[in-house]
Amino acid sequence: MRPVRFELHRPTSLEDALAFKAVYGDEATFHAGGTELLVALKARVLHYDHVIDLKQVPELRDIHVREDGTLVIGALSTHHVIARDPLVRLVLPGYAELSENVANIRVRVAGTLGGVLCFAEPHADAPTMLCALDARMVLASPERTRRVPSREFHLSEFTTAREENEILVAIEVPPSSAGTRSAYRCFGHTERPAVGVAAAWSPNGPKRLNLWAGAITATPQPLSETEEAANVLAPDLPYEEVWASLSSVLAAEAARIDAHDDLHGSADYKRHLVSVLAQRAIKASLT
Ligand SMILES: Cc1cc2nc3c(=O)[nH]c(=O)nc-3n(C[C@H](O)[C@H](O)[C@H](O)COP(=O)(O)OP(=O)(O)OC[C@H]3O[C@@H](n4cnc5c(N)ncnc54)[C@H](O)[C@@H]3O)c2cc1C
Repeated sequence: MRPVRFELHRPTSLEDALAFKAVYGDEATFHAGGTELLVALKARVLHYDHVIDLKQVPELRDIHVREDGTLVIGALSTHHVIARDPLVRLVLPGYAELSENVANIRVRVAGTLGGVLCFAEPHADAPTMLCALDARMVLASPERTRRVPSREFHLSEFTTAREENEILVAIEVPPSSAGTRSAYRCFGHTERPAVGVAAAWSPNGPKRLNLWAGAITATPQPLSETEEAANVLAPDLPYEEVWASLSSVLAAEAARIDAHDDLHGSADYKRHLVSVLAQRAIKASLT
């Protein structure tokens, strides 16, 4: 089916993109790679009279490291670009690896990081890893620019903290996370993950491990008891010793974690996968 006709706007600055949205309000939506939006428009699940294509806005594509060490990834960066970006590969190899394994090459070349975050379909990889990395979302509206922690960005299925008139400009990974030993492991029998788990170790500060599970409920969840058990471990222990200390607490926590039955599997199956994938993510982050 073809989408209902709409007018396409192609602004070349963030200011103009926000201005189009201010003029057309609820009748307009933003378009990035279109891998989710165009499917919904063609199925006529969504309808807009105006579509604002963000692809010509250069500041949404930039990837750089600030002087303070913060890694900034423009929201219009595709999964493919992120996977190959030399800075991301250097500073956050675990995130580059995640991007390299999203979906298939057609989706990776067109689909953007901002698109997957704003669409908020729970069976996605990026939200889980960005929670473990303590990332922030940079949102711009005509009135202000604000930052929302990744852990507060996803509110439920297809719902985020982004306000209707805001554009997700960039994702910031703070210096305490950039350079962390981090890894993400997922499994699914469709192109989207049934379960994903991210582990990130902080080089300093009292909190040692961030361990998050995603795709099992509407929003990612921390494995807090396992994180706490990791906080008392001596720094720089080899994986075998870390695992000996964490395995029983992780098994107990994974067996109780909130999970939903859906087409990707039963809640019990997902709980089992959480324990398996968490071990793999911890191992990959330490070896
Ligand atoms: C077959 C298939 C398999 C997939 N498998 C995976 C997978 O394994 N893992 C995974 O993580 N994901 C997977 N995905 C999801 C994929 O990552 C997303 O489709 C893609 O990243 C969305 O980006 P986009 O640029 O195409 O978004 P679009 O479709 O252009 O936009 C999606 C939504 O976000 C809004 N939006 C987009 N950018 C912005 C912005 N900067 N500011 C404000 N609003 C914005 C749009 O208005 C729209 O509502 C899969 C998708 C498909 C179709």
